[in-house]
Amino acid sequence: MAMTNRKQSNWSSSKRKVTAAYRKNRDIVRNRDQGICVRCFMLTGRIVLASDCDHLQNVNSGGTDDLSNLWMLCKDCHRSKTQRESNGLIGFDPIIDYDTGWPIPEMDWKQVISERNREYFKPKSFSL
Ligand SMILES: [Zn+2]
Repeated sequence: MAMTNRKQSNWSSSKRKVTAAYRKNRDIVRNRDQGICVRCFMLTGRIVLASDCDHLQNVNSGGTDDLSNLWMLCKDCHRSKTQRESNGLIGFDPIIDYDTGWPIPEMDWKQVISERNREYFKPKSFSL
C-alpha cells in the first residue's frame, strides 16, 4: 500500500468496524469472565477489573467474533498484547494456546473464577 502525502483521517484505519456479532458476544463474554481480566488472573492469580473485550486472535490476522475467540482484558494487558501483535509476536503470549484458541476450557475457567471469588471475598478475620 503506497504512502500518500495527503493528511488523512485515521478513523478508518484505527477504528475497526464493530460487528453486530461482536456487540452481542461482548456482553456474554463479560458475564462469562465475570468482568475480570483473564490474563492477569492466569498469569498472577490477581483479580483485576477488565475494561476491554479482546480478540485472542486479532481480526486482522483472521480472528472471528466467536465466543471462543473473545476474552476480557484490563487496559494494561490489552495494551501489551496489542504491542506484542504489532511487533509480529503473535503466539508468544504465554497463556494463549493458538492451536486450541481458548486458554483453558470454559467450564473449568468459570469454576476457577468462582472459587477464586469465594476466596477473595472471604472475611479475613472474625475477631471482635
Ligand atoms: Zn490484565
